[in-house]
Amino acid sequence: MKVKSWSTSLAVAVVASVVSPTADAGARPGLPLVDVVAEAARARAAAEPGLAAATWTDTKVDVRRSADDRWSFGAVVLVAPRQEDARPRDWLFVAEKRDGRWHVGLDGHPAFAELAASSPVVTGEEKAVFAAHGGAPATAIDGDYRTGMQLPWAVGQSWTMLGGPHAHDAGSGPWSSLDLAGGDQRVLAARAGLAYTTCVGLVRVLHPDGYASRYYHLWDHVQADGLSVAAGTFLGHTGTETGCGGVARARHVHFSLMHNGSFIGIANHIVGKWVLRNGAAQYGGSALHGSTLVNVGGALHNYGALGRTQGLVDANGGTVVNRRSGPGSGYPVVGTSADGATVDIRCSANGTAHTGRWGTTSLWNRLPDGTWISDAFTYTGVDGPVGAPC
Ligand SMILES: [Zn+2]
Repeated sequence: MKVKSWSTSLAVAVVASVVSPTADAGARPGLPLVDVVAEAARARAAAEPGLAAATWTDTKVDVRRSADDRWSFGAVVLVAPRQEDARPRDWLFVAEKRDGRWHVGLDGHPAFAELAASSPVVTGEEKAVFAAHGGAPATAIDGDYRTGMQLPWAVGQSWTMLGGPHAHDAGSGPWSSLDLAGGDQRVLAARAGLAYTTCVGLVRVLHPDGYASRYYHLWDHVQADGLSVAAGTFLGHTGTETGCGGVARARHVHFSLMHNGSFIGIANHIVGKWVLRNGAAQYGGSALHGSTLVNVGGALHNYGALGRTQGLVDANGGTVVNRRSGPGSGYPVVGTSADGATVDIRCSANGTAHTGRWGTTSLWNRLPDGTWISDAFTYTGVDGPVGAPC
């Protein structure tokens, strides 16, 4: 049937042009912006693992800035039902009306970075950060577990890990989130970036390299719309706020790790100089600081952020790791580093192979004082050198 096959291929072509990230045809002419944004959010949620679009009870579109009836910027939230393990989903959006049609980009989509780059309602600081939030949804981080984040409270305080790695909605998505409470209950930005309050109780901070950190259930929180924050800037207090759905029984912060607008598994990532580890089930799990293991229910001391060219000494159950005068066990011992210590890595080279907690490697790292430590006993978050070759 020639006609039918022609119409089928036309339909495919139309669908392809609508979902194309760069050359989208835009929404139907005349369709209001809020409808276009809501539809984009529901389509995005439907494409995510573990998120069932049918569970959203409502969609809130918050247009925050606009110009010339052509440019718009704001937030969109899919409101969750008031039940256990249901939580809202939120994005920022940038929109431009061309030829009577709204073109919308949600953060973590190429159109977001593209539209932001030329939008007069997006600040220069936002353009720089948003440029790194235009990747494909759920971009893999390629085995690089460095986040540059501290735990979301004051460095030096210890809070309780009430819940270990679990999915954003306790569903089948990536185990991106931790439930945390304690100390002075003041939730602070885990890393520098731009903060946005997308919902009552919900703050998200976009970081310059595509990472985002997200904080939910907050009481008395900042009302942020592009607020420039440093690591440690106050965001709100732990609470039980569920302004956009879900349930929280005891006060805590539901802290989530995101990249390119999607939740990613937090396991193996370094936050506050702890390496998060999944349990057999959601909300279980543990965290490692060197060889110090804290199970769910235990206290995590916030040691601050681990730098991109730093390592956490992990003696794999021992108390110290030898430092040597060269990259191998044949060189004399010239010092030791304590388990859990932070080392600055100047450069790396191959030497004798050793086996630590995370596997076997022949890589050695040279420290600022010229001594060397095996990478087998240095957790850097990267399976390979973090800096230049020596
Ligand atoms: Zn949680």
